[in-house]
Amino acid sequence: MRSAKINCERLLDDLSKLASFGALPAGGIDRPAFSAAHAQASEWLVARMTHAGLRARVDDAGNVIGRLGPDEWPALVCGSHIDTVPGGGAFDGSLGVIAALECARVLVETGADIGKALEVVAFCDEEGAYLSMLGSRAMTGGLSAEEAGTAKGRDGEPLAGAMQRVGLSMANLARAERRPRAFDSYLELHIEQGPVLEAKGLDVGIVGSIIGVDIAEYVLKGQSRHAGTTPMDERRDAGRAACEAITAVFAAQEQRGAPESRLTFGALEFVPGASNVVPGGARAVSEVRAARAQDMRQLRAAVDSAFDLAAARHALTLEKRHLGADKPSHMAPDMIDLIAGVCSELDFKFTVMPSGASHDASNFAELVPTGMIFVASRGGVSHHPEEFSEPRAVVNGAAVLLETIKRVIAARWKDGP
Ligand SMILES: [Zn+2]
Repeated sequence: MRSAKINCERLLDDLSKLASFGALPAGGIDRPAFSAAHAQASEWLVARMTHAGLRARVDDAGNVIGRLGPDEWPALVCGSHIDTVPGGGAFDGSLGVIAALECARVLVETGADIGKALEVVAFCDEEGAYLSMLGSRAMTGGLSAEEAGTAKGRDGEPLAGAMQRVGLSMANLARAERRPRAFDSYLELHIEQGPVLEAKGLDVGIVGSIIGVDIAEYVLKGQSRHAGTTPMDERRDAGRAACEAITAVFAAQEQRGAPESRLTFGALEFVPGASNVVPGGARAVSEVRAARAQDMRQLRAAVDSAFDLAAARHALTLEKRHLGADKPSHMAPDMIDLIAGVCSELDFKFTVMPSGASHDASNFAELVPTGMIFVASRGGVSHHPEEFSEPRAVVNGAAVLLETIKRVIAARWKDGP
């Protein structure tokens, strides 16, 4: 077997070709799932996979799948996504797919005895133009027919209509689900989308966990009154109560919160919303993120009790509504060790870190040993036209992925599938 090395030029060429689908004249990329640009990129990817010697297809959820090895064998899946946010960049998702393709191509070219199944997958709608992580959830059985049936795009277009536009059918969506036995393990290379690796001068981040997200709405109701004639101690001021609760919970988080936890109030409204009226109503939406389920529960409980207290203090009614949650997911310790071993051998400086953003990997983490590799994002910028990772970082990340793939194949499949 010849030595297996990433072909840098080919990898960067493919990445820049993929960036041309949905490229905007002023910079940035618009390539949401089920758009014409996404369909064209998928078609191009199928052709690139086929050219590389993979058996390529688009499944019933719009996932592009390229496979090496017999159909019945469990696969090491190397995936990410090729859809973008509106005005997104050329690296988020794309890097993981193109690097996985390059790895498969190198293995084929060097005559590596894979002897087993390897899949390169571009998951559909990771960014949630219609339904967040639609493709990886559909494939791993984490999507209900009801959820898919009611999903809509930002302009209100039903998912079913969007699928139809690109020749897919909602009626067949469930066919994208595969038996858990179809998967052996999962790897994803991704840009960090944050500033840590660059700031610390590190080559690689090994993801320890993907942090969970929990969203809740708090609606306070008191009484709207004249802002000049109502004494301060006779008010039932929902706006003030919301501010007090928010300030209190941020203070508590600063003092006692887990360092990797995140607390955000991204929406806050007062009713009626006039300078001369004591607000009789307030609505706040909080998002809690944490690497451990326990930290997430604690932070959510802290927000709940801050609002309970503020409501009681100002004689208000309080309604809490849970708007959705994704549990934190954990990468396999064996996979983390294996990637760390690869980094040491390749002489790359690395750290084990949580991922603050959600990834398709979380849908595989409960099913099979899963690992994620991060490379630095310039300035920590992502979901933006200026998203950039240095060519060296891209190539280094792909080299880590390639070596990890080889070791996963050797380690888990030594004695056959
Ligand atoms: Zn992504």
